[in-house]
Amino acid sequence: MGHSKVARWMAVSLLFLGRLSGHACQRDESLPATWPLAARSGGASSWTSPLAPTAVAAPLVGAEQAAVTSVTATPALTFTRHDLDSSPFGQVTEGINVGDIDGDGRPDLVVGGDQYLLWYHNPDWAPHLIARIKEITDKPVTRIINTHTHYDHTEGNPDFPATVEVVTHENTAKMMPEMKAPYGITLTDRNVFKDSNGRGLPKRTFKDEMTIGSGSDRIELRYFGRAHTSGDAFVIFPALRTMHTGDTFPNKGMPIMDINNGGSGVAYAETLARAAKVPNIDTVITGHNQTVLTSADIQTYSEFIRDFVAAVRAAKKAGQSIDDVANSWKLPEKYQQAGYQQPQAARIKPNVEVLWKELN
Ligand SMILES: [Zn+2]
Repeated sequence: MGHSKVARWMAVSLLFLGRLSGHACQRDESLPATWPLAARSGGASSWTSPLAPTAVAAPLVGAEQAAVTSVTATPALTFTRHDLDSSPFGQVTEGINVGDIDGDGRPDLVVGGDQYLLWYHNPDWAPHLIARIKEITDKPVTRIINTHTHYDHTEGNPDFPATVEVVTHENTAKMMPEMKAPYGITLTDRNVFKDSNGRGLPKRTFKDEMTIGSGSDRIELRYFGRAHTSGDAFVIFPALRTMHTGDTFPNKGMPIMDINNGGSGVAYAETLARAAKVPNIDTVITGHNQTVLTSADIQTYSEFIRDFVAAVRAAKKAGQSIDDVANSWKLPEKYQQAGYQQPQAARIKPNVEVLWKELN
């Protein structure tokens, strides 16, 4: 793998991670894939969402110790504090994420440091080295591709040097300076791009497609229409037969149809169906799933959303209310067998509201 490719991979990966600057939230067991990982440093990092209980990050205990704790607004959940002593691995500087690294069914923590990439084993939280950063590349990050405007994919941008080129779809470039919260999610009022006087905003955009680089380092960007937002980029790495979907395919659960940022429930399934037809893709990296998936999974996800939209359309025609639909919609058996889980009513309702508006 060439150095420049690795640098780009890292740039994309860092955006997946979001930017945590030494804060970490961890709930015991079965973290949802949409866990709020993008808390910023500097105190008031909590936000509320129907996706997950409120999480409050604890400050660092000393420069070399990441304190991992969490408080929940839902009394039924219990939390245990774990102190992850990162010494001698340096400071947590790049971010944190969850994923089942060893395949035991429990979400582990992945932590990006200034020198190392580590994972912490659930439940004993022993650190394991994934990579020494300098062994992956000694080249600086030169380019960032943001798949869409949302804070958990873009807020790290201003932390990179101003010389780093940020590339997005043209609609995302228009939305990023505003940093509107996704529909159905309450965020504390913040805008990192205002704070940074615009540093980290995209200067290079594409409409339908764009090619970056050449040979084995070539990256293809594609736009297939509105879905999660109106600026969802699909990132294709032809030499690796790999595609990143951003949050248009977040995981095997309810997506966010973010009408605040141009998203569309009605257009969503067709946009995904186009992405599923991209040839020569063996590996699909989703927005938030804990493992990689395939193009067949994108196709199934497209059908899942198509069926959901059809059910909402029928319910509206039959005179049901938004709450009726949110409380009664049942995940079809076909998707249960494909690894989907019944979403909570609170996750269904914002999408029903969006579709209610669109289906007028
Ligand atoms: Zn998103």
